[in-house]
Amino acid sequence: MNEREICRVCGYISDIPIWDDFGDAIIDEDCSCCGVQWGVQDTSLEEIRRRRSIWLENGGGWVWPAIEPEDWDPTEQLVNIPKKFR
Ligand SMILES: [Zn+2]
Repeated sequence: MNEREICRVCGYISDIPIWDDFGDAIIDEDCSCCGVQWGVQDTSLEEIRRRRSIWLENGGGWVWPAIEPEDWDPTEQLVNIPKKFR
């Protein structure tokens, strides 16, 4: 698993790298799962944790439900998040 392809808020694994070697966002997109705007709404640990709480309180679903995998469990995806962003 490549840390550069993981959403820091929900643990979603992107098809393409989100982060450069310095931890800055290299694509201007929102997470397909939690909807966070990468590189804008997840720039501090405090903000990452706040966004994650809101996302989970709202059921931990997908902003694009059409691509939500069957039998998907948000808690399983959360383990993808690098320790420093938990
Ligand atoms: Zn996400």
